[in-house]
This record gives sequence, structure tokens and C-alpha cells, in this order.
Amino acid sequence: MTRSSPPESVADLQRLDSLTTRTADPSGAPAENRDRITVRDPATDAVVGSVPACTPEDVSTAVDRAREAQQSWAERPVSERAAVLSRYHDRVLAHRQELLDLMQLESGKARQDAFEELLDVATNARYYASEGPGMLSSERRRGAFPLLTKTVEHRHPVGVVGVVSPWNYPLTLAVSDALPALLAGNAVVLKPDEHTPFTALRAVELLREAGLPDDLFQVVTGRGPELGEPLISSVDFLQFTGSSEVGRIVASQAGEHLIDCSLELGGKNPMLVLSDADVSKAAAGAVRGSFTTAGQLCISFERIYVHESVFDDFCDEFVERTRRLELGAAYDYGPDVGSMLSAEQVDKTERHVEDALSEGATVLTGGRRRPDLGPHFFEPTVLTDVPESATLSDEETFGPVAAVYPVSSTDEAVARANDSDYGLNAAVWTEDTAVGESVARRVDCGTVNVNEAFAATWASVDAPMGGMDDSGLGRRHGEHGLTKFTESQTVSTQRVVPFATPRRVPGWVWERFMIGNLRGLKRVAGLRSRVRAVAEKLPGGRR
Ligand code: NAD
Repeated sequence: MTRSSPPESVADLQRLDSLTTRTADPSGAPAENRDRITVRDPATDAVVGSVPACTPEDVSTAVDRAREAQQSWAERPVSERAAVLSRYHDRVLAHRQELLDLMQLESGKARQDAFEELLDVATNARYYASEGPGMLSSERRRGAFPLLTKTVEHRHPVGVVGVVSPWNYPLTLAVSDALPALLAGNAVVLKPDEHTPFTALRAVELLREAGLPDDLFQVVTGRGPELGEPLISSVDFLQFTGSSEVGRIVASQAGEHLIDCSLELGGKNPMLVLSDADVSKAAAGAVRGSFTTAGQLCISFERIYVHESVFDDFCDEFVERTRRLELGAAYDYGPDVGSMLSAEQVDKTERHVEDALSEGATVLTGGRRRPDLGPHFFEPTVLTDVPESATLSDEETFGPVAAVYPVSSTDEAVARANDSDYGLNAAVWTEDTAVGESVARRVDCGTVNVNEAFAATWASVDAPMGGMDDSGLGRRHGEHGLTKFTESQTVSTQRVVPFATPRRVPGWVWERFMIGNLRGLKRVAGLRSRVRAVAEKLPGGRR
């Protein structure tokens, strides 16, 4: 089944052109002759529209406009800013059909995968609208001298936040991080991926309809290598989601300009199936975890370590469930797995599979392109016997390919899971959740799900999400996902006793007084530690 023309809801995409930030073309070319980027439907390769290839001058204009709008936005009470996010939540839900159609049109993903994006954006909007204001309020901190030093931490917006987003989750990754940045009182300049600009533009239009001031959220469509440096050199914070390779480039540019950044990068995510796991549930989790968005999900599984006692049963079940997946493109909840994004993605996936086969791997199911369905379809693929020499044993494929490996113990599963440069997401399957939770803590990944593939941690937006090692720097979600977009400022007021030796007090008296003070503070700290140690030992105590 291939889809033909896009649904009516997304027929008029070119009107979104007016939302991109542009200055006059420096070459003086008339608007219609400006360099443009063609956007295609991955499922059919049909052209769906084009967007301007913005220039470094456009980026500069966008940042200037955003910076000006930011001043009055930051002065508004946080409750007013939160109200915009709250209204955005409702608008996103109200416009869900159109957004789902648009995400499918630009990324080729299955509708249920697009729906997960919609849930994510609504969840983040609700969470930060309701919890965010409290996280931004000024807080009393312990002063240098108890009672004599009043210390308060304030949070100020950083100014203009640059967001660079990829194509695989075109709605979520364009706006979900921007929402807390806006709530904190910042402006945002977004550079969406070249393949999926219309979803980002429509998402921003909906934000304006929800009450966001027009200039506060600028969008510059264009090519990453051309716009990255101009953006990074003029914003105050960079939120980047994409490959580890580009992450290294933008991190060094951020370092050059001394701005802070948060990097959400690639992964080679492991799933662990322990000897007591319910094989059927684990196999269902492996299917979801490996083939959501045709495996083009940063937190999807590409390595599955299964205890040898359940290895055969797991493989049978995993293969059977994978074969039952319907592959195709339709603007409804029919197909389970959609198209990949581009020839580049399919070529890389095919290269990885062929390389693994040439090194001795076995295909249990899948392993082929499906040109009969569209130009960029690839079958959900399960491999085994993959040797270490195969490229895909440690390199991210970012396609619908999972390699299954038998292991003889939980320790071996953990050791092999940790034998990677990446550390983004993992899952542990076991009938003993206490064991699962303890194994999870030994896996070197920023998020680890017990008896779930990825949604349990991802959707728990009150908790931080992000990668260890080459998978990133910083975290999104939770309090940190908001406060990273702020500068903290400490204001301390000293009362009665000054810090310097008082004029008429002899030095040795002051010395004794201060030493006594330090000893007193140490005794209080020791008491606190002892109380904490006792609390940890109580049933349910935090460790
Ligand atoms: P990519 O790094 O090629 O591109 C991401 C974005 O960066 C795009 O907007 C692109 O235009 C821009 N870009 C490219 N070169 C640039 C440069 N030199 N300077 C500035 N910007 C530049 O990544 P991709 O192929 O679009 O996305 C897939 C990768 O993203 C995978 O590795 C995946 O694991 C990762 N990813 C990570 C997360 C996460 O949350 N950790 C989420 C989604 C995707």
C-alpha cells in the first residue's frame, strides 16, 4: 500500500513560508529566486513544498528580533507565561489530526508513532505550565553565618535560546525543549531539520495562536553546517538534538563562544532479558523498542542481550511478532511501521546489514528493502550471530535492525550492555522488579526502563532525561530541563557581624570566634549526616 496525495488538512503548507525569518537576500535576488530547500514525502518521494534556505544574515535578524521581544516577555508574571503553555496544550490537542498528518507527510512515520509525539508535546506543556512557575521562584539558601547572612538564589532567563532539531521527531524535538525555555522568560530561535520544517513552522504558529508574542519564537529554515555557527555565535544557550558527530562540532563552537549547551545525541541502546523474564512481554517490548519510527528513534534498541536459558524462546517470539508487523504508509492507524526518511538512511541500514552478514551474522527475519511499498521502506530486521567485527555491533544504525545475543549471566548482560561509547537508554526485563531496579542502576545509561521499552522514562517528564558518555551533555525534562535555561544569581545580605575582622577586636579573638563557629557548623553537619544515615536504613528509605 502506498499513499498518494497528502490529506486536505496539509494542502496549504506554503502559507507557512511567511513564518520563516528572512532579511533581504544579500545577493539582491528577488524573493522568488532565493535559494530554497525542497521538502519531500519520504513514503512517495513526492514534493510537498519548499522552504527558504536562510542565510547567516537571516539568523542574525532572527536573533535580534527575538532579543528585543524577550525583554518584555521576561517582565511578564510567570503565571502569564505559563498560561500560554496551558493554552498551547489545548490547541495541540484540538489540531491533532492536522499535526499527525503533517508529521507523517514529512517524516514518513506510522500514525501511532506520530501520536506519541503529540502526547509528548501536550505532556510537556501541561507539566511546565503547572510545575514550572514554582521551580523558577527565588529560594532561600543557607547563609554563610546562620541567622546573620541572608542568602537568596534568584533565577533569570539566559536571553535567547538557540534550538537545533533533527527530523526523526519533528514536532517533539522542535518544541518540547523550547517550552520550558519560553516559560523561563527566554526567546527562542529554532533551526529545524531540512527534511521536516513544516511541522516546526506549524507548531510555532500554534504557539502564537496560544498567545505567544509574534517575534519571541523565530524559525530559520536552512542547512545545519551553514547556520550552526552564526546561530551559536549570537545566542546565549544552545539546545541541540542530533548525532554525536555534529554534537561534537556544535559543542566546540559553544565552547568557543562561552555559552552553555545541552546536547541530546545518538545511542546504541541495549535491552537486557534476564532468565526469569516473561518472554512474551519481553518480545513485545523488543518489537516496540526496536521498530518504533522504523528504528529511527534515538532511544530504540539495537542490541538485545538475552539469558541463554530463554534465548530460543525469546527469539521465536520476537521473530513471530516482528513478522506480524504491517509495513506501509497510510494516514490512519493501519500500518505498524512506516517509511524511513531518505535514501541515505535506507542505504546505511542496508550497508550495516550486508556487512554483518558478510561477517557471519544470520538474519532471523527481514533484512531487505521494500521498493514495492515506496522508495524508503526497509523490513523490520532481527539478526543473530553478529560478530564484534561487524560495523553494527557498536555503531548506531538508526534503522529497523536489532541484533540478539545470548548471555550466560546477568553480570555478562550488564558488562556487554556497558561495553559501548554511548549511554542513552536501556531496558531490563524480569519478573522480579526489585532485581530489575538494581540491575538498572548498574547499566551506564541516562534512562533505564524496567519491563518497558522507553516510554516509562521518557514520559516521566518530572525526571531528567538524557545521555551519558557520547550520548550527550545535560538533561531535558524535570526541574533541570527548565533551570538550565536560566542564570542563577545569589544575593546575600550580611547582618550585624561583618566578615572581615572587626576594627577593635584583636586578631586572636576573632580567630577563636571563627574557629568556634566552624567547629559548631561541623557538629551540625555531622548531626545531619547521622540523621540521614538512620533514615536511609528505615524501610523505604532513600539511598
Ligand atoms: P544530525 O546531527 O545530522 O542533524 C541534526 C540537526 O543538526 C539538523 O537540524 C541539522 O541540520 C543540524 N546540523 C547538521 N550539521 C550541523 C552543523 N555543522 N552545525 C549545526 N547544525 C548542524 O542528526 P540527524 O541525522 O538529523 O538525526 C539523527 C541523530 O540524532 C541520531 O544519531 C539520533 O540518535 C540522534 N537523536 C538524538 C536524540 C536524543 O534525544 N538523544 C533524539 C533524536 C535524535
